[in-house]
Amino acid sequence: MDYDVLVIGAGPGGYHAAIRAAQLGLKVACAEMGNVGGVCLNIGCIPTKALLHAGEEIRASKHAADFGLTFGEMKLDIAKLNGWKDGIVKRLTGGVGSLFKANKVTHLVGQATFLDAHTVQVGDKRVTASNIIVATGSESAALPPFPVDQQRIVDSTGALVVPDPVPARMLAIGAGAIGLEFAQVYNNLGSKVKVIEFAPQVVPAADADAAKELAKVLRKQGIVIETGTKANGYTEKNGELHVELEDVKTGEKRVEVFDRVLVAVGRRPRSGGLGLDVAGVQTTDRGFITVDKEMRTTVPHIFAIGDVVGNPMLAHKAMKEGLVAAEVIAGKKSAMDVVAIPAVVYTTPELAWVGLTEAEAKAKGYNVKTGNFPLSASGRAMTLGDTDGFVKMIADADTDLLLGAHIVAPHASDFLAEVGLGLEMAATVTDISLTIHAHPTLSESILEAAENVHKQAIHIM
Ligand code: FAD
Repeated sequence: MDYDVLVIGAGPGGYHAAIRAAQLGLKVACAEMGNVGGVCLNIGCIPTKALLHAGEEIRASKHAADFGLTFGEMKLDIAKLNGWKDGIVKRLTGGVGSLFKANKVTHLVGQATFLDAHTVQVGDKRVTASNIIVATGSESAALPPFPVDQQRIVDSTGALVVPDPVPARMLAIGAGAIGLEFAQVYNNLGSKVKVIEFAPQVVPAADADAAKELAKVLRKQGIVIETGTKANGYTEKNGELHVELEDVKTGEKRVEVFDRVLVAVGRRPRSGGLGLDVAGVQTTDRGFITVDKEMRTTVPHIFAIGDVVGNPMLAHKAMKEGLVAAEVIAGKKSAMDVVAIPAVVYTTPELAWVGLTEAEAKAKGYNVKTGNFPLSASGRAMTLGDTDGFVKMIADADTDLLLGAHIVAPHASDFLAEVGLGLEMAATVTDISLTIHAHPTLSESILEAAENVHKQAIHIM
């Protein structure tokens, strides 16, 4: 065999797998048909956060008038903005290349296709490996009445290139993380943005109260959000997009006019065209590769990780699965046996959660107790001038066990981590209450929410 391990795909899942396998002494190659770093570094997590930050600076600069700081007229150099974002992507993807070199991971360039269960064609090379890890990720799901041309009708990749001038009126179809993040970017850059969502709440996977709170704050910022609404199609007239919108409940239809439409209705696994059938690897009806807790597919020496194996389609889940697959191949005891995977919408404020929603906890039969703490009572939030949001803690009233937390707050993703650790360590709400949190911090809101589960929060009347 040419290699102990061949990883197909150098996204966050694939590159973590390749590096960990090499660290454990295995001879590793990683095949990539695009840029190393995958969706996350090139057209996902990183460039969206760069644009969100730029937009947030605009919002914050306007906000600064509240404490007596005003700036001159804003000038937006869109070419520079796009270039700055691209520069960050380049730095990070270059970093992955350097990590491959430092760890002696061979980077194979080209599209990989299975020829048999141990042989893969990569570009014009034929490669054999004792173990193979499929980490081919996902791509935007299509919405047939809105074929993407990356000009007027864009998916997340098209939306990453900010046009000059910014579209005057933009419609985002889908109020998941991607739809809402871009809605805020373009809203801050000066577009009039409407977001529609088929489901009755934004971010359908999130806790209902948290989703409601985020929608309330985003509306306050000027983004129009309509849930229970679908887009049926559009016609183009004089360069404008006349979109038919429909109320899902009443069936009432209307036409509204936009300059750009973002289709953000989810992602589908990239498992086709890989020759998985030739290798004997099974997929579900929806194209996800079937794996066990060791990330092993139906063929014992072929593993699969990341978006291609299913939800949640998140970079940190892909990374963890990559480490597990590499460790199992190296003979270590390792498994994807996590209690909870954090999820974040990186708007300002962020919506971040980990563990069970209130509805999920009830459905599981817990005697649920909740504790809320509004940011309006947080001294730190006041000093930041951002008091919209809250922390909602979910607990089991019978055992005091921590079950989850849902935060709408600036930087929520950063201070959510303590709840993740608490869940992994089976912490009780009292464990959180007994922990001294620095003052003044936003993370004190976690402490107060925990205290409020026992109706003992100091700053709540
Ligand atoms: P991918 O990152 O999709 O990488 C797969 C790689 O495999 C690609 O580079 C592809 O070129 C390569 N490949 C595919 N087929 C072949 C083949 N046959 N041969 C060779 N190479 C192949 N997640 C978060 O956790 N946080 C975020 O903030 C976040 N923001 C996002 C924003 C956007 C706009 C999008 C679209 C996604 C975002 N995600 C975010 C999701 C995140 O990007 C994915 O969950 C993550 O990239 C999945 O990693 P992966 O390794 O499974 O696959």
